[in-house]
Amino acid sequence: MSKDRATHASPLPSITLLTKNMGRIKETLSPPPISAKIIPMQHIYSAWRSEYIERDKNNEGCAFCLALEEQDSPENLIFHRGETCFVILNLFPYTSGHLMIVPYNHTNQISDLSAETLKEMMLLVQKAVRILEKVYHPQGFNVGMNLGSVAGAGITSHLHMHVVPRWQGDANFMSVIGETRVLPEDLGRTYQRLSEAWQADSLNTGGNS
Ligand SMILES: [Zn+2]
Repeated sequence: MSKDRATHASPLPSITLLTKNMGRIKETLSPPPISAKIIPMQHIYSAWRSEYIERDKNNEGCAFCLALEEQDSPENLIFHRGETCFVILNLFPYTSGHLMIVPYNHTNQISDLSAETLKEMMLLVQKAVRILEKVYHPQGFNVGMNLGSVAGAGITSHLHMHVVPRWQGDANFMSVIGETRVLPEDLGRTYQRLSEAWQADSLNTGGNS
């Protein structure tokens, strides 16, 4: 057995991402060994970014703003619209339930966001975590933003907050080979489950349902 490959039993599961431009990247999840400390976290969200970037370029517009113009459904992937932000599934999820909180304000500058927007973003993160815990029972989450392409952002013009459910060993299960991803659940099914759970959740979120 090869000892340089992580297994489900390993306390330090690793992700191997293989993309056209970046070659093979091995990333060790927390807690990293000392030798891996300089490996950037940007790659955690980068597996699908070349596809997102292409969509962005081809449409000559922002994928988020284009989705906002459509009716909410499993097609545009938006299942909640708040006062200042909306919630959308990631078209190329890292794991099942991977969603994003996105301000309506088309900007890549966090300093452009109002206090009201920042507050609602975090309240929506809180609700998203609660809903995802109910529906998928993950063992942990990645929550965060990639600001700028150098930091791993796929859509660089419109900032967004990722909420990614995590399970021990999911990196192995979800390994990327030549940009082909194996997903455990159809996006339409994810949309249905999260949309229903979101609407059924009785706790208030920033004045919105
Ligand atoms: Zn936009």
